[in-house]
Amino acid sequence: MKRCVALVVAAGRGRRFGGDIPKQYRQLGTDPMLRHTLGRLASHPDITEVRTVIHPDDIQLYEAASKGLGLAPPIMGGEERQDSVRLGLQAIANNTAPDWVLIHDGARPFLPSGLIDRLLDTLEHSDAVVPALPVQDTLKKYTKDGCETVSRENVWRIQTPQAFNFNKILSAHQKLQGQSLTDDSSVAEAAGMKIDLIDGDIRNFKITSSDDLDRARAMMQGPEETRTGYGFDVHKLGEGNSVTICGVVIPHEQGLLGHSDADVALHALTDALLGTIAAGDIGQHFPPSDMKWKGAASVLFVDRAVALLRARGARIINADITILGEAPRIGPHRRMMTTRVASLLGIDNGRVGIKATTTEQLGFVGRREGLAAHAIVTVTCPASIT
Ligand code: MG
Repeated sequence: MKRCVALVVAAGRGRRFGGDIPKQYRQLGTDPMLRHTLGRLASHPDITEVRTVIHPDDIQLYEAASKGLGLAPPIMGGEERQDSVRLGLQAIANNTAPDWVLIHDGARPFLPSGLIDRLLDTLEHSDAVVPALPVQDTLKKYTKDGCETVSRENVWRIQTPQAFNFNKILSAHQKLQGQSLTDDSSVAEAAGMKIDLIDGDIRNFKITSSDDLDRARAMMQGPEETRTGYGFDVHKLGEGNSVTICGVVIPHEQGLLGHSDADVALHALTDALLGTIAAGDIGQHFPPSDMKWKGAASVLFVDRAVALLRARGARIINADITILGEAPRIGPHRRMMTTRVASLLGIDNGRVGIKATTTEQLGFVGRREGLAAHAIVTVTCPASIT
């Protein structure tokens, strides 16, 4: 599995359309525009980490825009866009250099997940891949001598994210420092790298004017759709004197074994939440290989998944959880579990189902070797979100 970092460039002042704050922090739906961009990258299962380059004046705005998404600290940008990207790449290289990097504009909040997939597919056999759209309008070149039609043949509009072999684009940026090129594919090109074009996506437009912002806001308010996510998990029972289920500690003659607190129900719930936005699974977002999650309270996983959903404009309608086990009995704890899960999801208790069943002493659950849980979550979200 390749390590892929997404580098979001959000250091611009972008005050072209007025307002007191840079455009990437302007409100889009209930969140700042940048939060949508970050949420889409952070929820993609193949993106290992999201880093953002910001302007030092925007630290507070950025903290609000990225809250709860679990991102590494921002990187401070430079004078020009090109400086900001170079500083971002260098900061990433100072930790562990990834195999790949996706460099994306903070002001393109409607990045479809399928475009990321296509970029990464092509990057398997390329060092530089950029999304491109055909030019629809007739092009004219206008000078003092008059007007001249420019052929549209072989002319493309280029979008971001642009995807690169990390080390190659880093060295291209270092080599071409100070040349004021407008995008990273131009830097790659100037450094002699071969660029591959793939189909872009018109929904992935860049917000540069107030008209663009109006269009983006209309997309957020457009038709809604309903989605369902499903999750399943199992944990082994072993030595111990309590189990944690739905965030509630229940005294028991055995304990649940696992890297985190082994809350089998919240793990199934986290996967169901991630499933509604096709954001991969709990293991991709919270790898057991990462010591950070050792003994972690699983409420953190649910919190993060909920933040990712909200950043994608999704609203949770209900959740339904079934716990499979011979013991302990769930009934006496059901109300507390319901309240706990409802508050984690930010919904009323009446929208959370907690159920339990035995398996009639059959199978691993019946032999008291482990507990299992199923979860289903339903959300609504703008249909423009893909
Ligand atoms: Mg688990």
